Amino acid sequence: DNLKKYFPVRAGVFKRVVAHVQAVDDISFKVYEGETIGLVGESGCGKSTTGMTILRLLNPTSGRIVVDEIDTTPLFFPKSKVRKYINETYVDRFNELKNKYKSEDDVIKNLKDEIDKKYAKIFFDKGYNGLHQEMLSNLNEKRKWFRRNMQIIFQDPYSSLNPRLRIRSIIAEGLFTHGLVKDGAEATEKVKDLLDKVGLSPEYIYRFPHEFSGGQRQRVGIARALALNPKLIVADEAVSALDVSIQSQVINLLEDLQNEFKLTYVFIAHDLAVVKHISDRVAVMYLGKIVELADKKDLFANPLHPYTVSLMSAIPIPDPEYKKKRIILQGDVPSPINPPSGCRFHPRCPIAKDICSKKEPPLVELENGHQVACHFAGQFKG
Ligand code: SF4
Ligand code: MG
Repeated sequence: DNLKKYFPVRAGVFKRVVAHVQAVDDISFKVYEGETIGLVGESGCGKSTTGMTILRLLNPTSGRIVVDEIDTTPLFFPKSKVRKYINETYVDRFNELKNKYKSEDDVIKNLKDEIDKKYAKIFFDKGYNGLHQEMLSNLNEKRKWFRRNMQIIFQDPYSSLNPRLRIRSIIAEGLFTHGLVKDGAEATEKVKDLLDKVGLSPEYIYRFPHEFSGGQRQRVGIARALALNPKLIVADEAVSALDVSIQSQVINLLEDLQNEFKLTYVFIAHDLAVVKHISDRVAVMYLGKIVELADKKDLFANPLHPYTVSLMSAIPIPDPEYKKKRIILQGDVPSPINPPSGCRFHPRCPIAKDICSKKEPPLVELENGHQVACHFAGQFKG
C-alpha cells in the first residue's frame, strides 16, 4: 500500500544528501493467493526495487507491506523507527477519526480495510502498547515466518550461486537455518528430491555451479527458492539471461511448480512478451509508478495507456504478412532524481496535451479491475 522507496544521493566533502532517486513512488497493488502478477517496464522503472522492498531486502521509505492480514512493515525496521511508523500509520489516523466520529465503534465501521479494522479494535482496547505488542511480539518467529515464506529467484544464474559451494550446500543452507531437517542425511534426501522436482538429475547434487549451463543453474536457483516451501516467490528477470528456447522451458517449469505447490508469483520482466504467457494479471511500471494494471487478457486486447500501447508494439509477431507499425518512443527514460511534472510520461507521450505536464493522472479503476493512470486513457491506438 502506497509503497515508496527513495535512495539518497550524496555529494560533496561532507557527503550530504543532495537529492533522492525516487525509484518507487507511491504504488499500491494486491497479489492474490495462487496467482502470477507480472511487473513490466523499461530498466530503471522500479520493478526490481519493488520486488526487493516487498521481500524486505530493502526497507521501504514509506507505505506498508501486508501479508496474510498482518502488517509486516515494522518487522524489519530498526527499533528507533518502529514507534514513528506505528504512530504515523495507525495511531494518528485512528485518533483523528475518533475526533470526527466521536465513537470508537463508528470509527471501526467506517474503516475500509479489514486490517485497519483489526488494528483499530486493538488500539482502542489496549492502546499504543497493545498495538505494538500485536505487531512485534515474538519478533524472531515472525521474521523467520516471513523469510521462509517470501523467496526470490534472481536474474543472473551465474552470480547468484556461490561458486565455491556444491549444489547440495547451496540448496540445503535454508533447510538448516530454518530447522527443517534434523541431520545431513535428511538434507541430502530433501535436496535430491528438489533437484528432481526442477528437472535436474539427483546425481548432480555434489557438482559445482560452473559445471552447469545457464538454464540448469536457473533450475538450481528455483530449487533453492522452493526448499523452504514458500507462499510467494519474486522472480526478478528470472529468464531474461537465458536463450529463448530455454526461457520457455523454465517458464513451463515455474507454472508446473505453481500448480503443485500452490505458489504465488510476482514475475518481473522488461519484456511484455515474456510475462504474456505466465501472468494472470500484469502491472506496467514507468519511472517508479504503476501506469496500468489489468487482467492479462484485458491488457493485451485493450491497452489503455499510451506507454503500454508502445511497449506492445515492440513485441515481434511471427507472421510476415502482418505488418505492424512499431512505435518508437522519443528520448530516453528521464531521471528518477527529478522526474517530469504532472504525468511522468508526458515528455515522451505521442498524445500529450497541456494538462499532462501540470496534473498528475491518478491510477483509476475502469471496468473489470482494469486500472490506468492517464488523462486520455484509451485514446492512443498507435
Ligand atoms: Fe500521455 Fe497525458 Fe496520458 Fe500521460 S496523461 S500518458 S502524457 S496522454
Ligand atoms: Mg531489474
